[in-house]
Amino acid sequence: MLNPDDRIAMAISGGKDSVSLLRILFELETKFPRVQMTALTIDEGIKGYREEAIAIAAKNCEELGVEHRVFSFKELYGDTLDELVLKLRSLRGEISPCSFCGVLRRKALNQAAREISADKLVTAHNLDDEVQTGLLNLIHGDIARNARVEPILEPQHPKFVTRVKPFCRIPESELALYALLDHVTFQTHPCTYRETSLRNEIRHIVNRLEFNHPGVKYAISSSFERLRPALKTMVSSVKIQDCSSCGEPTVGHICKPCEMLQKIGVL
Ligand code: SF4
Repeated sequence: MLNPDDRIAMAISGGKDSVSLLRILFELETKFPRVQMTALTIDEGIKGYREEAIAIAAKNCEELGVEHRVFSFKELYGDTLDELVLKLRSLRGEISPCSFCGVLRRKALNQAAREISADKLVTAHNLDDEVQTGLLNLIHGDIARNARVEPILEPQHPKFVTRVKPFCRIPESELALYALLDHVTFQTHPCTYRETSLRNEIRHIVNRLEFNHPGVKYAISSSFERLRPALKTMVSSVKIQDCSSCGEPTVGHICKPCEMLQKIGVL
């Protein structure tokens, strides 16, 4: 996933997974003096939630002496997520706050990683996240997207930064235990919008399945892994081009974030 001379952009939200990953990467980095690491936090603008997370991310970076940069939805898109959610109401539930947030954050992270000339964008997605994403794509009828849910996502366009997910085979419960045993300072209360998301429903279903039938998460993840080569052939002819609105890479004429922002009249 990583080379001894990589410039690493590490996405840190302030939650247990990203703070633990930051600390582990920092420890590894000391053995590889040519590695450079910058931590990136995206401030979506979620009142009563994100301020605390940013402070925790900043504190952890400061303790380790890791450069920390914050990029906000407000400066990138002109509105905070809270402001965008108010505008989303006109769509009567067509787009959930979390879909909006996820799509805009992915774009913001890639732009931020590119801005610091990173070779790799490291995220702390765990096994649970990957299983939920795979199932979400299935439920949305967007199976081809699962071709891109993988531990190392090589860029298909020069404007994309290679994304790597070192924790993608580690269950969330084990990461929580690690963070507690390592006395990591992390944000414990969840985002206000989490309860409204389809991902959260899937989280509950998969957790119940795992409780009753241990091993289910690994089984689902390995099924998606085995399907991936076939899915990749399906999407191999898809051309990535520049979005006609913002110039960021996309499969269509216009990228998903711009399409969503247009829908609510922001663009
Ligand atoms: S729970 Fe939803 S709205 Fe909140 S940070 Fe996560 S994706 Fe964004």
